[in-house]
Amino acid sequence: MMDQIQATIITIGDELLIGQVIDTNSAYIAQKLNSIGVQVHQRIAVGDEAKSITNALDRAIQSSQVVLITGGLGPTADDITKPLLNRYFGGKMVLDQPTLDHITYIFEQVHKRPMIERNRKQAEVPDVCEVLFNQTGTAPGMLFKKNNSLIFSLPGVPHEMQWLTNEKVLPIILERLKLGVIAHRTLLTAGVGESFLAESIQAFETNLPDNIKLAYLPSYGMVRLRLTGKSDDAASLNSQLDTLFELLKEQVKEHLVTDKDETIEVVVGRLLKAQNHTVSTAESCTGGYIGHLLSKHAGSSTFFTGSIVSYDNRIKTEFLDVPTSILKTVGAVSKEAVEQMALAIRSKMNTDFGISVSGIMGPSGQTDEKPLGMVWIGVANKEKVVSKVFYLRFDRQKNIEVTANQAINLLRLLIINKI
Ligand code: ATP
Ligand code: MG
Repeated sequence: MMDQIQATIITIGDELLIGQVIDTNSAYIAQKLNSIGVQVHQRIAVGDEAKSITNALDRAIQSSQVVLITGGLGPTADDITKPLLNRYFGGKMVLDQPTLDHITYIFEQVHKRPMIERNRKQAEVPDVCEVLFNQTGTAPGMLFKKNNSLIFSLPGVPHEMQWLTNEKVLPIILERLKLGVIAHRTLLTAGVGESFLAESIQAFETNLPDNIKLAYLPSYGMVRLRLTGKSDDAASLNSQLDTLFELLKEQVKEHLVTDKDETIEVVVGRLLKAQNHTVSTAESCTGGYIGHLLSKHAGSSTFFTGSIVSYDNRIKTEFLDVPTSILKTVGAVSKEAVEQMALAIRSKMNTDFGISVSGIMGPSGQTDEKPLGMVWIGVANKEKVVSKVFYLRFDRQKNIEVTANQAINLLRLLIINKI
């Protein structure tokens, strides 16, 4: 049962090869397969071209028990995958009535326009496949079998592919390949590096039973720890994981942010809501990204009030009362500037907490004293204002994301009285 199952992902589409569309489907599928213990050992990207698709299939089936194909199932003529699969697996095209009913329903009831022949064709499938009914769109998924391999063909539209992967593909793989059950426990730590963390839980890790693995997943300057267990029996696996997870939590309790698989802004949103408290942000280098994260989830209006994007120094002075003397002496990327910004936003927006950031996100703008990636973050409440400097080493986009996450984490520490 514990044998590694090998998988190949084939993505089809000219747009992927010229870089017009980024292949996010592969990453999604790889993560999902990985989470049930199936190893993706190769990924192949091909254009909408018969010969390349056939070659990719030959290669994939030779080496993999699971093959996942996405794309090439749309209604336009450039999509050749379905007839090709039909020939490849030696079938003939037949109408799938449930799919036709579904397409008819979508056109008549949802789009309120008549179906054309091209749409009807989407309900045709090779008679040698098992149809994977697609509740989220018009093109159905298909499952073929050859030489002990399961070959899944899914539409390329990301949300349809995702729905089919979760609802059809993964359950079929688990059941047909007798992979047993897989379960996870995830926690998030902050304020401690990966290697230090590894050092401190070394004994725990070495003593893990064979069927349980520990993964370190760095995430925006924080580290997620995930326990993955495999077994034949769900109940005993869950109790085994629960015991180990409690032990792990105890070992990292100093740095524990959450013992669920959730993001930092969700954790902080919950803390704020529980205390009926509010927050506002004054953002220079993140350009509103912290506000975006805080307002991303439903229900955030109860704790998030608003932001001032004070990108230009004039805005820091005019709207946040940062004295020009500070800007002229220590500059905008300084303890003094962010502390004033945090205090000002809190009082102007009349919130319980204020967050502020100012930094040099790159790729240019550094000086001798202020290197690229230098960021000051400030947080304030009624009693105090606290600030901290970070030195980030990523590209501009990643620096922005890490800054936002660290700022929200600093707020968390203030809320729970740890700073
Ligand atoms: P048609 O050409 O008939 O309209 P299509 O080519 O759009 O069909 P698919 O190939 O299934 O149909 O792709 C549907 C959509 O999904 C396209 O917009 C495509 O760019 C996008 N897509 C396809 N493959 C991927 C992928 N690997 N990652 C992300 N998006 C993808
Ligand atoms: Mg396509």
